[in-house]
Amino acid sequence: MHAGSCNRSPARRGARCVSGGPLSDVCYTYLKEALLAPLREAGRVDGVLLAMHGSMVTVSEGDPEGDLLACVREIVGPDVPVVMTLDLHAYVTARMVHHATGLVSFTHYPHDDTYTTGERGARLLFDALHGKTKPVIALAKVPLLAAGCKGMTFGDGPMAHLTRRARETEKQPGVLSISCFQIHPNNDQPEMGSGAVVITDDDPELARHTALSFAEECWARRFEFEPEVVSVAEAVTRGRAADGAVLLVDTSDYAGCGAPGDSVALLRELLALCVTERCFTMTVDPTAARI
Ligand SMILES: [Zn+2]
Repeated sequence: MHAGSCNRSPARRGARCVSGGPLSDVCYTYLKEALLAPLREAGRVDGVLLAMHGSMVTVSEGDPEGDLLACVREIVGPDVPVVMTLDLHAYVTARMVHHATGLVSFTHYPHDDTYTTGERGARLLFDALHGKTKPVIALAKVPLLAAGCKGMTFGDGPMAHLTRRARETEKQPGVLSISCFQIHPNNDQPEMGSGAVVITDDDPELARHTALSFAEECWARRFEFEPEVVSVAEAVTRGRAADGAVLLVDTSDYAGCGAPGDSVALLRELLALCVTERCFTMTVDPTAARI
């Protein structure tokens, strides 16, 4: 669940916002109740599919998705399948694994597979509730916190290799789903780390083994996640020497990751170097904007 606007339709409940700081407890309690109340009122349900991001934190709750899953499980009981879809940058916890029947993440970064992730989650849910499968989940992580710059799932980067192997391994009998997670590194929670969630058909040992092998590959490739970092002056100098349009990206102030977007480091360097080429920069500064 993202916070922000809230869809009040009883059949489809949801809220979303862009990245930012921790959600207030008041807002989280409101959203949580808005989500859980219809489920309580619904009486007996066949299954529950929750579409979450997975990296939200609130002022008092570091694992809101785990909290929601625990509450949903308490309402529907132990036998109703509960599946949650997640972002590839989700913070997956032992509590989530404990309460969920299935956890399925995006397989692409950039995330262009939100729709098909929903389909994968729904398929897992329907197969379980029709008794075709008995999903068991294993989570394995290594203490790897890396910026997203090298986390693309196409090309030759570490996540691309992991993703391709995941799709191959999913063809094995008994393997229902493999989700490789590269944690959103700016969170600060006790179970931080990157790795994989593996779901098998009633084979806990296969799930555990497979999840471990993906976590180990994450660790083996850990240095491949490191982007080349240059100083602002060096970046501007290199940019000026390049042909055509140049994109200078300040990843430490990336608003998509929850940063405020108010850094003037690039702008300052452009001015200091007396750059005369046409430049466009963005800075969040409401006071300056008002003036
Ligand atoms: Zn993401």
